[in-house]
Amino acid sequence: MKCESCQAEIEAGDEREHAGRTLCEDCYMDALSPARSCDPWAVFSAKSAAELEGGAELTEVHQKMLHKLQQDKYVLPPDLAAHVGLSLEQLQKELAALRHLELIRGARKGGQVYVTRFDTPHDGEDN
Ligand SMILES: [Zn+2]
Repeated sequence: MKCESCQAEIEAGDEREHAGRTLCEDCYMDALSPARSCDPWAVFSAKSAAELEGGAELTEVHQKMLHKLQQDKYVLPPDLAAHVGLSLEQLQKELAALRHLELIRGARKGGQVYVTRFDTPHDGEDN
């Protein structure tokens, strides 16, 4: 059986009916909440970073990244990717999201670009 939206193969019993179409779980969720696929970060940007950081709304990966940055202060992207178990490409997306929330920023030190928390003082960084 195939999803009528994304053509993914659906395992027997996992198919969902929506508006007369057979959908996979993912497309079904999308169909139920169309806002989800628009801008997942729009909802976050309305809230303050501090509120978010303390709250449960950051994903587990984001929290792991922020904890790592709290411990090590400056982390190279490949090390951060390894720490949270993402590819560098996937990490870039997560970094973009966190940057958008002003929770992290890039920092140049000794000619290398590190990731650091947004509130890390600029002392000791390259100009
Ligand atoms: Zn689908």
